[in-house]
Amino acid sequence: MVVVADRESPLPQDASGVKLGSSFGSATTPSAGSTGLSVAGFGMPEHELLKIMVAQSPVAMSVVDAAGVGVLWNPAAERIFGWSAGEVIGHHLPTVDPSFAAEFGDIQSSTLRGNQVVAQETRRRHRDGHLIDVAFSTVPLRDHGGRAVAVLGIIWEITERKRIEAELIRQAHHDDLTGLLNRVGLTAKLCAQMEPAAGRSGTYGAIAVLNLGRLKEVNDAFGLPAGDEMLCAFAKRIRRAVRPSDLVARLDADTFAVALPQVGAVHVDAAVARLFARIGTSCVVGGRTVSVELRGGVAVCLESEAPADALRRAAVALHQAKRQPHVRFHVLQAGDDRSFGGRVELAEQLSGAADRGELRLHFQPIVSAASGLVTGAEALVRWEHPDRGLLSPDRFISLAEETGSISMIGRWVLEEACRTLAGWAAGDPASAQLSVSVNLSIAQLQEPELGAHIAEVIANCGLAPERLHLEITESMLSVDLEAAAGVLEHLTDLGVVLAIDDFGTGNSSLIALRRFPFQILKVDQSFVGGIGVRPDDEVIVAATIALAHGLGLTVVAEGVETEAQRQFLVRHGCDELQGFLLGRPAPASQWLGLEWT
Ligand code: C2E
Ligand code: CA
Ligand code: CA
Repeated sequence: MVVVADRESPLPQDASGVKLGSSFGSATTPSAGSTGLSVAGFGMPEHELLKIMVAQSPVAMSVVDAAGVGVLWNPAAERIFGWSAGEVIGHHLPTVDPSFAAEFGDIQSSTLRGNQVVAQETRRRHRDGHLIDVAFSTVPLRDHGGRAVAVLGIIWEITERKRIEAELIRQAHHDDLTGLLNRVGLTAKLCAQMEPAAGRSGTYGAIAVLNLGRLKEVNDAFGLPAGDEMLCAFAKRIRRAVRPSDLVARLDADTFAVALPQVGAVHVDAAVARLFARIGTSCVVGGRTVSVELRGGVAVCLESEAPADALRRAAVALHQAKRQPHVRFHVLQAGDDRSFGGRVELAEQLSGAADRGELRLHFQPIVSAASGLVTGAEALVRWEHPDRGLLSPDRFISLAEETGSISMIGRWVLEEACRTLAGWAAGDPASAQLSVSVNLSIAQLQEPELGAHIAEVIANCGLAPERLHLEITESMLSVDLEAAAGVLEHLTDLGVVLAIDDFGTGNSSLIALRRFPFQILKVDQSFVGGIGVRPDDEVIVAATIALAHGLGLTVVAEGVETEAQRQFLVRHGCDELQGFLLGRPAPASQWLGLEWT
């Protein structure tokens, strides 16, 4: 019902407040029938009502003729763009608003040619120069002969919505505390930079993952704000140690990542050494100088490798660096890269293994040395890999620890082990006193919600807490004694029983015994294997049993394979035995019919 103006005509100011070309002032409004429009007026002529509507609409409306000259420009359009109706109507729009010139031709011609609504979001300039975001739809307006003669634009300002959207994206891509990118943001930026459109081939230099040791200690000793201060200080140092165009991210609590875009494989070592030197190893927190242990893992990116994979390999390298006491960083060499190709794939598959129901638990009996009756079972995880068959934990537990999947696997093992034990008790009251031993990895000990999860699982299964034994390998505890002590005390408070596993293989065995609330000691199978073979091992086993008993601990000997070993252990007062001689690990279904305590 909008009629295209005659450009030569004067532009009357209508009583309705809407400014329009001369035809709008004409008394000869086409009938509703000819426009396809039905209007039930308020006792006013139809065209009057429509003019009021356009004038009072909160949505901006414009009509521009085929030559690009303004015909209608309502007050909402004046408010959004700042141009008055007088400045637009009768004037060539791209000349009035040069910020629109580039898009104008396309929008105008595609609207006039097509029959559809053209909808777009774009950024424009307000008359006073500030940028505004607008969404608009345009449709062609046709004369009675069906010829497209003008373009009707319906426009909303969306500056605020765009600002909020941009802020949400920024927040999702950044770490609140340090303002650095987070993992999502880093991966997104790396992906964008690797696009051929960004002028890069498939590779991205190298990625370094840096771990800041002692954060937990600082948090515990001086409080969380001090830990935050330390993180922010190091975030700034890392940022200053690289070029402004390099990407720096905080991946999780104490781990940062730096993307070194241009560095070539042969220069990586030198580049990372420089980075470490610039970052330094101490900082001032709350007025005190704290020295930190900075460790790094570096992956030289492979051809066309997804950034997430490179990050994962850098995390693997970090893990390797951490295993060697005096190594500050480890760079994955080309040879490592090849062998890690398979590991990366395996890690990927492992992350979904529990959800896909591919994990299995086998149970190995632990028997009373005196009576030979079963007192409990150790739950040992296996992975039923779709192509590789049943994989033993040695093949995937360290990978799971390196890549973080261990949390998910650990939770599954804990739940499945407790469910199985509860099931046995329900099926056979004689098994009601059996215990189940579950192995915990160091990563699980660092999970804040571990205690709550354990409490929930034993409650759900209706298990007495002392029937759940948690095995912790002694060497894991040397990493962070104080932090581990807190976690283990919390677990003991729940009433579960802690066992020190592989006793004698680490370098802090005795400290661990004194410091942590263990109730069970498991003599490592390497010593048990020496019984009858190496006299030294016999001395160690006998002394360990005596030591443990002196401290009030129950002793379990692992890896008992021969009758001679069993007799030796019984003779020296060992409490319980575990090993192939007594029973191999087997699925829960094969446990039926065993004789319990
Ligand atoms: P571990 O905790 O020391 O478990 C005992 C390992 O010794 C098991 O190997 C068991 O099958 C094996 N074994 C038992 N008796 C004998 C014997 O008489 N002779 C010999 N040669 N070996 C014996 P498995 O099942 O391959 O597990 C290896 C390791 O993987 C475990 O050592 C444990 O550290 C880890 N692991 C297993 N399940 C889990 C789990 O659910 N979570 C975590 N974090 N680690 C697990
Ligand atoms: Ca164990
Ligand atoms: Ca063991």
